[in-house]
Amino acid sequence: MQEQKRVLVTGAGGFIGHYLARYLKGKGYWVRGVDVKYPEYSQKNEADEFLLLDLRFFENCLMATEGIDEVYTLAANMGGIGFITSHTSDVLYDNVCINANMAEASKKNGVKRLFFSSSACIYPTYKQEEANLVALKESDAYPANPDNEYGWEKLFSERLYKSYGGFYEVRIGRYHNIFGPEGTYEGGREKAPAALCRKIAMAKEGDTIEIWGDGKQTRSFCYVDDCVEGTFLLMRSDFKEPLNIGSDRLVTIDEMADIITSFSIKDRLKKSEIAEIVSNMDEGKEFGLQEIAFAMLKGATKKIKKKHILDKPQGVRGRNSDNTLCKKVLNWEPKISLEMGLEKTYQWIKGQVNV
Ligand code: NAD
Repeated sequence: MQEQKRVLVTGAGGFIGHYLARYLKGKGYWVRGVDVKYPEYSQKNEADEFLLLDLRFFENCLMATEGIDEVYTLAANMGGIGFITSHTSDVLYDNVCINANMAEASKKNGVKRLFFSSSACIYPTYKQEEANLVALKESDAYPANPDNEYGWEKLFSERLYKSYGGFYEVRIGRYHNIFGPEGTYEGGREKAPAALCRKIAMAKEGDTIEIWGDGKQTRSFCYVDDCVEGTFLLMRSDFKEPLNIGSDRLVTIDEMADIITSFSIKDRLKKSEIAEIVSNMDEGKEFGLQEIAFAMLKGATKKIKKKHILDKPQGVRGRNSDNTLCKKVLNWEPKISLEMGLEKTYQWIKGQVNV
């Protein structure tokens, strides 16, 4: 019988890491998770073993990689745009230490294959100045000019890990805005999808929610299950260059807020609200029960106003993933629609904030 392969997931107490640990266990791997904290919203025993270690220190990276065949490095000090632009030295120092020590410890312990979670933040600002931008190809990374220090660190670490390519196989995924349930949704590290889901879930009928920027900035968003699958396929492939892992559907932040609002169905309606919905239905036409139910649901979503806060950080003007290379190399692309992913995320966050 073939021996069970032993894999390490760093950052397994975080959002994507704990999904990845679960996924890899489901594929039959023996999984060690490492983080400075246990997963907040799920069971710590999803991995076969979970070590609490600070990976900024070399000895801890040696402990983490001992007896390991393959490493998925997801540990990072990071958060949404508000966090990474206000904690620049922490982001640079912590992540350089984590990645330099993980790269070297993996070599010392004879690791055979390593995945590094890079980011769309490595792409240069000058390619992302228009909301309606041309999607970013992997080759657009140079000449380099990332928008923030987090992006510079990721670009440096891509090169760092590549330089270890003579000691173990290296795979690099550039994640584009990954979202889903069981991720941070409050406290300052949350990203736009989770922040909007929280604000909309907590808003009452007629309330105003704050949106950072003018709402016309664009992004693409990839559901976490797709991200984990793409990561695994890239790790198993023989492709040695960085590869985009993201959706190529571009939306404005305002459009995303509207999609989320469409899930905010009120539990109860007043008679006057029912009358208003009915008065908007075509006179003289007959309606099936399903149509009536649909019209009621549509009319029962909360009415929420947006206030755009222009002096908050909003990052680059537009960002999208060109998936041509990904489709060619992996014969794969993300398949979960934005609507489906956002609805799952919204319902989970709504449950968390208890409304
Ligand atoms: P996350 O913050 O939920 O997870 C990162 C984990 O790393 C956290 O649990 C944190 O505790 C852990 N960590 C931080 N410092 C550590 C240390 N010194 N030692 C050990 N563990 C430490 O973030 P995530 O969204 O799951 O992202 C995972 C990886 O993917 C990160 O490297 C991130 O930069 C990258 N990425 C994420 C996105 C995204 O949209 N979520 C986009 C691009 C890249």
